[in-house]
Amino acid sequence: MATVTLTLADDVAVITIDNPPINATSHSVRAGLVDALDKIEKDTAVKAAILICDGKTFIAGADVSEFGQPPKNPILPDVIKRLEASTKPVIAAIHGHALGGGLEVALGCHYRIAVISAKLGLPEVNLGLIPGAGGTVRLPRLISTENAISLITSGKPVSASAASDMGLIDAMAHGELIDAAKDFAKTIINHPCPTPLVDRAPVDPLGDDQWQETFAAVTKKARGQIAPQIAATAIRTGIEQGGAAGLTHEREKFVELRDSDQSKALRHIFFAERSVGKLPDIDGVKPNTLSEIGVIGGGIMGAGIATASLLVGFNVKIIERNEDACATGQATVEKHLTGSLKRGLISQERFDSVMASLSTSMDYADLGNADLVVEAVFEDMSVKHDVFGKLSLYCKPTAVLASNTSYLDINEIAAKCVNPARVIGLHFFSPAHIMKLLEIVRTDKADAKTLATAFAFAHKLGKIAVPCGVCDGFIGNRIMSAYRKHCEYMLEDGALPHQIDDAMVAFGFPMGLFDMQDMAGLEISWATRKRLAPFRDPSERYVALGDYLCEMERFGKKNGLGWYRYDENGKAQPDPDVDALVIAESAKKGITRRDFTHDEIIETILSAMQNEGDKILAEGIANSPDAIDVVMINGYGFPRHKGGPMFLTNPHHGTR
Ligand code: NAD
Repeated sequence: MATVTLTLADDVAVITIDNPPINATSHSVRAGLVDALDKIEKDTAVKAAILICDGKTFIAGADVSEFGQPPKNPILPDVIKRLEASTKPVIAAIHGHALGGGLEVALGCHYRIAVISAKLGLPEVNLGLIPGAGGTVRLPRLISTENAISLITSGKPVSASAASDMGLIDAMAHGELIDAAKDFAKTIINHPCPTPLVDRAPVDPLGDDQWQETFAAVTKKARGQIAPQIAATAIRTGIEQGGAAGLTHEREKFVELRDSDQSKALRHIFFAERSVGKLPDIDGVKPNTLSEIGVIGGGIMGAGIATASLLVGFNVKIIERNEDACATGQATVEKHLTGSLKRGLISQERFDSVMASLSTSMDYADLGNADLVVEAVFEDMSVKHDVFGKLSLYCKPTAVLASNTSYLDINEIAAKCVNPARVIGLHFFSPAHIMKLLEIVRTDKADAKTLATAFAFAHKLGKIAVPCGVCDGFIGNRIMSAYRKHCEYMLEDGALPHQIDDAMVAFGFPMGLFDMQDMAGLEISWATRKRLAPFRDPSERYVALGDYLCEMERFGKKNGLGWYRYDENGKAQPDPDVDALVIAESAKKGITRRDFTHDEIIETILSAMQNEGDKILAEGIANSPDAIDVVMINGYGFPRHKGGPMFLTNPHHGTR
């Protein structure tokens, strides 16, 4: 079936694209568009045209199956030039998403009209690219340079009303989009066709100083990603050297970036995130209907999980130990939601209705209607057993029972339940209402329905769900423990905490390991180490520096001293006392200290991650190397543009 059809209604032609699911700019669409434009040009009855899409959205991107293939004519830049050269005005009628090449097509049209729910954006930088079909040249000829830079270098889409405010669209459609577009056509039909954007003057060229500031700001935000900087340069070139030169420059840079390591890495992780949760064994399995969620424990994690669940429309019951803890849990959720309200993410009305969907209780009998319960109580096996015993007793037989434990054996938790087939691990990351990652831990006995329901819950929460098996620390914490050990070895062998952290930040992590430990607080892992001390293999190398810090009551940022010393503004400074402690420990163990370069530090960290990753794969804890990359990037700050530790060992991709 044709993906592009042309119909005539009075003197307005309607070009309709129907290329599900996202009306991508596939070859048939590009060819169909050129064909339709040729017909319109020849038809003297036609005075204007509307470009509209069937299905859920306007053109929302490129055809991924064409990635890595040799480009097939007509290529998108040429289609857009053809569109722009039409002597009859073309109106883009936008619903759903106009993204990437989709927005570039809309920019090639002479007018744009959109429904209120539409979103418009140029997300190419998220894949390590820049717009390659004129976006960097046409956009600053329609909206301010500042807005164009922000839209292109952030990759974030904007709402139709924001797009209207900045002049990106000409009119908002009320009622049926096609009718609104036809009404709009009547208002412009007797006017001359507007000058194509590429031939217009830029809206507001910036001075040299403003450009320097822009480049500095873009580079800072990009944290090592090259595409945003190259996009800003392309915008400047298009503004200062004229439309035609701008288009040539943009295309050259687009092609260069398409073959870059960063783009390959970003494309790898983009696809990995979309495929990692697809499990063949739950294909076709119908999940339970979810409407009420129980959360046991209203602490840091419980309150976050409750907030995330409330925000997507679930009724939530928090069970706590006493009235004070109930009140604290409720207050924490309210604080999170107030944050969403203040940032304009939810309205006051929605805040009120969401808060009304929350209740707290000390009585497990109140969980009789819960469809899924997440336990987030203290990390202690006897407490978990006690909680799951009560859940077995009070929850309906179909309810899925999940634990948010970080390290405990969920099989052991499940074993004591009446029906272990419905027990699963849902390992959220802190803050649970913000972090996208969720490890779904398959217990040995979890059945397909339980698994399917857990994935449906994750999907509803908008999380990236990664399936994994039961082991100490699952995928992420296990890899982190492994590389932390090697960082501690490096301390004794010659590196200092800030040198390791500096190397990690230079590599692209938002913060280094020791900085992160100080943020989280050192005493929790100290308690774990003390608990596990009797079971430690005495022949394994053990670094006691973290224990010494805690013995000196250096618990991290919250008390001003940890691996670093914190000034009155809370800024970390390397501490000579810690350096001396580290150096003395090497001497005590008879280790001759040596210098570590940044590269050596990163190589050590990467190989620790990769070795542990290989073990995790061999044991079947992770389904694929992609799963490990997705976890490390979304849960542990691994730089996205490096693709993940497993991708770096074997960048098998590059075809996308
Ligand atoms: P927390 O101490 O902040 O909260 C635990 C809450 O559980 C407390 O409010 C406590 O009153 C309540 N509680 C204890 N026993 C209870 C019982 N029998 N019935 C009802 N409520 C009870 O701890 P947290 O940081 O939220 O961690 C909770 C769980 O999540 C732990 O298993 C932890 O390992 C795991 N986890 C924590 C993080 C993190 O970053 N904090 C991340 C992932 C997973």
